[in-house]
Amino acid sequence: MKRDDEEHARYPCPADGSELYGWTAAHDPLDRGRRIVLDRCEECGLSVTRDGYPPDVDAELDALIETAPDGSVVLTAPNRRSWSGGIGGAQWAGLEPELHRLHLTPEAARLLLSLRGLTAEEARTPFSREGRRLMIQTFLNAFTYRDNFLANARSGRLQPSTGRERWLHRLDWVVTVLVYVPAAILAVPLEAVAASVGRGGVMVAEFGVAPRSRGDKYGGGAGPDQSEEGSE
Ligand SMILES: [Zn+2]
Repeated sequence: MKRDDEEHARYPCPADGSELYGWTAAHDPLDRGRRIVLDRCEECGLSVTRDGYPPDVDAELDALIETAPDGSVVLTAPNRRSWSGGIGGAQWAGLEPELHRLHLTPEAARLLLSLRGLTAEEARTPFSREGRRLMIQTFLNAFTYRDNFLANARSGRLQPSTGRERWLHRLDWVVTVLVYVPAAILAVPLEAVAASVGRGGVMVAEFGVAPRSRGDKYGGGAGPDQSEEGSE
């Protein structure tokens, strides 16, 4: 059986060790011929882009956090438990499964950072520019040939090579320009309400250094020791 067709991933949820079940499949926004499978943990809601090996959790988290001199951190990330995430599903603009493998929920972030000896202090979903962009782009994804077209086209990640691809690329520009304003008129107020009830598209979570317990539970180690993996 091909790896893409299996019911679950070959590695556990990095946040809590639960099984990762196949959730959805999407076209790669950068290469529509390629199918991307996403798995999801039913315990913490973490979604992981499927591959033959586990995701590099530390590298992906490091890209999302800022660490203060006292060791506390602020994590800023797309919130899969947001209204835009619920509306978009596999076409949610915050997914970017071709660029990252981890797609966090607040619960998954709390669990992953607790493995680094950090405890959640405050989590917010502010009404932010990025949150509005994610809601608008999620609406646009319903109309364009490629998901997340605007961000990928502007960043130069899309390089149409054949005549057909160039034609579709131009069509996606036309659709994006035509639909953008009506989408924004709906999306911006919706995101404002979502942010106010804690379901905004971007989460900002503050974590403090956990006090050492008497048994020195974390043993001074910084990250999870994954020495037990690799049963294949
Ligand atoms: Zn999980």
